[in-house]
Amino acid sequence: MQMVQGADPSVRIAIAGGVDNPDDPIGTDPMRVLEAIESVYSDDGVLVLMDLGSALMSAEAAIEFLDPEQQEKIYLCEAPIVEGAIAAAVQATANGPIADVIAEARNALAAKAQQLAPLLRIPLPTSADFAPESAASDAESTDLPTEEAETPATEKIAITVPNRLGLHARPAAKVVGLLNQYTATVQVTKGDPPDAPPINAKSINQLTTLGARQGDKLIFYATGDDASLALAALQKLAKQNFGDDDSAPDKAADIAASDAKTDAPQSADENELVGIPASDGFAVGPALLLQPELPTIVERQIEDVEVEWKRLRVAIEVTAAELAEIQRKSRDRLNEAEADIFQAHLLMLQDPELAQRAKVLLDERQINAEAAWQRVIDAVAAEYRKQENAYTRERAADLLDIGRRVLHQLMGTTATMPQIERPSILVARDIAPSDAALLDPAVVLGLITEEGSATGHSAILARALGIPAVVGVAGALSALENGQIIGLFGQEGRLKTRLTPSEIAALEDQRAAWLAARLAARENGQQPAITTDGRRIEVAANIGGPMEVAAAMASGAEGVGLFRTELLFMGHDHAPSEDEQYAVYCAVAAEMVDRPIIVRTLDVGGDKPIPYLGIGPEANPFLGWRGIRYCLDNPQIFKPQLRALLRAAADHDIRIMFPMVSTVDEVRAAKALLKEAQVELRREGVPSAQSPQVGIMIEVPSAVLVAEQLAAEVDFFSIGTNDLTQYVMAADRGNAQVAALNKALQPALLRAIQRVVQAAHRANIWIGICGEMAGNPLTTPLLVGLGLDELSMSAPAIPRVKAQIRALSTKDAQAVANHCLSLASV
Ligand code: PEP
Ligand code: MG
Repeated sequence: MQMVQGADPSVRIAIAGGVDNPDDPIGTDPMRVLEAIESVYSDDGVLVLMDLGSALMSAEAAIEFLDPEQQEKIYLCEAPIVEGAIAAAVQATANGPIADVIAEARNALAAKAQQLAPLLRIPLPTSADFAPESAASDAESTDLPTEEAETPATEKIAITVPNRLGLHARPAAKVVGLLNQYTATVQVTKGDPPDAPPINAKSINQLTTLGARQGDKLIFYATGDDASLALAALQKLAKQNFGDDDSAPDKAADIAASDAKTDAPQSADENELVGIPASDGFAVGPALLLQPELPTIVERQIEDVEVEWKRLRVAIEVTAAELAEIQRKSRDRLNEAEADIFQAHLLMLQDPELAQRAKVLLDERQINAEAAWQRVIDAVAAEYRKQENAYTRERAADLLDIGRRVLHQLMGTTATMPQIERPSILVARDIAPSDAALLDPAVVLGLITEEGSATGHSAILARALGIPAVVGVAGALSALENGQIIGLFGQEGRLKTRLTPSEIAALEDQRAAWLAARLAARENGQQPAITTDGRRIEVAANIGGPMEVAAAMASGAEGVGLFRTELLFMGHDHAPSEDEQYAVYCAVAAEMVDRPIIVRTLDVGGDKPIPYLGIGPEANPFLGWRGIRYCLDNPQIFKPQLRALLRAAADHDIRIMFPMVSTVDEVRAAKALLKEAQVELRREGVPSAQSPQVGIMIEVPSAVLVAEQLAAEVDFFSIGTNDLTQYVMAADRGNAQVAALNKALQPALLRAIQRVVQAAHRANIWIGICGEMAGNPLTTPLLVGLGLDELSMSAPAIPRVKAQIRALSTKDAQAVANHCLSLASV
């Protein structure tokens, strides 16, 4: 104020520090910030400078209270508060555009830094360090004292964004996943010269909200021992289009690329509501209204910050495990690309900047973890909503979804959808992607949301699940009643709220025709998969329960290659009885008609906790009491399952498979228990199978190494590449940080598979793969070439994998396999 006293024009400055608590006045109050902004507001814009922590949050919160046009004229600037204020005030007297004032504020430390540089023993990184002309690789050329040589230099590379959609959530997740493999600190700026100071390139949220589009120049700066390695890997990823396939048809992508307007048109027909077409198809049925059920957050003062911080960290960890499970389920039901959405969610959740911002709030405001987390999520979601690109704006919904999950964890409430009893058309304000992924097309005839757009992940998932959907239907919840019969026209993005009986019949016909056309497309999937030289590969489905059998049959599954029975045990407070299990196995068998079913015995533990089984916390659950280890120690749980299986196998080709086998002794013990069950049943006069096929999963490195000995004990092997990969690579399958290691195409895995196939064939037993790798059509030639007899996968993958096999000759497939085996990297 002193610097610009008497200036013409006068410079308006307002101060907004402190809170209304005389005993503890340190902090900031959004309302005071708001009043300050309003007191100096003009259409030329307002520059807001702030110090740290809650000041940032309060400034962001204050803006939310302004009109949208006013919000656009407020500039929150990271410039240093004292020097920045002086520089900005002086520049403002020149009466130029606010951009000049901001530039001056940002540069406020440059002169001081230059003057002090010779006296400094450690160079401090400032935003000026990252300006292109002073790239840190020039660091050696400054006249700093010689101790400086110890300080790691910053290296930089420029990358022009290659992919059509720019750095949206999925490619950003790839970048973060890659950089997390290095210890180097990596920052990035956009534009030349940069349009803002560098952001943390390991923060998925900051990277996505950078808003980098195709053709934008990014400059990455890395400091640390492996800086050059990190940058080289990044360059390589950019050459691979950041992992985006620009040729893939993607409705969401097209909309994002054209930045199409997503506003819903109005209908002239009063019995009609219109929205945005999100997923094709027709549906007619009763509306089921889902009212929002977000927990109410009450902000409280707390005593012990450490306790709140720990609660938050635990909630984040548990949510990460939950998301990893949803990702796994999505891999079974959807394509890799859709399952990747949850990889991005995991990275968003584990973004170090999110937790850090919450920690700052906890420290400064001493509020409860729920309130701190909610504030951070709201602020970051607001960042997403500000983005120019429609696709990136939509990521706010993803962030709110994970934010909501953490809140549910903190509050001990549930984040899951209610059970849907009868086939209905779901109507909701919005639906979280993690809920959408779990929708069952058998009962969810269609989906209508008031919010969202065709680029939202929920819409992407609805398409993948084949559920017709219209989104962005304003006022749908108030216009409709529970149970009201409505009609949905997915492709046209409209719904009929009143239908005459003849309209209902016509729409039912349209739905039937649409379903039939879809079926015809899948029909090819019903043909066997035989290579051009006549070798037949069995293609089977992985299922989690009877609910999935219809889809498996429709997709052309020649059997069930993996029935994950732990899903029968989850979601209850007690183990299902022998009779209950028997009923389920018979139900699956009846629907599969005469096709073989491989039932895997209970694979509890690891990432599949079942609380009532009493496993309790373990330091390393994946290396702990899992699968067959637990079952052998708990015959009271294991035996009823074996008995139920033997009974169901009396008149159906049901095969029994043991998971997580690491030694021959385990197989012998399991077989002994099976024998015991057989003898018991015979003695009781209960019909049961005499010699069902018995096999094991190959998921543990030791099983690979003793494959010959194991092969002598069983009728078949099925390789669980999901677990085998994590154990061979020592890379947790649920940990996004090590996702690059956790790849079934790692050379070590290919060698393991080759080894087990040879051992199996030498012992004349058949061998399949039931890990996710089997469902990726890209790997089909390799797996056929390696000699696998069976591939088991999620149902939707079956038609494409079969088509791949039909196009192959054994000779060509072997050439592919040999070539792959000669390579040294993924
Ligand atoms: C595997 O580990 O590859 C497998 C199929 O089992 P799950 O994914 O159920 O652990
Ligand atoms: Mg497994």
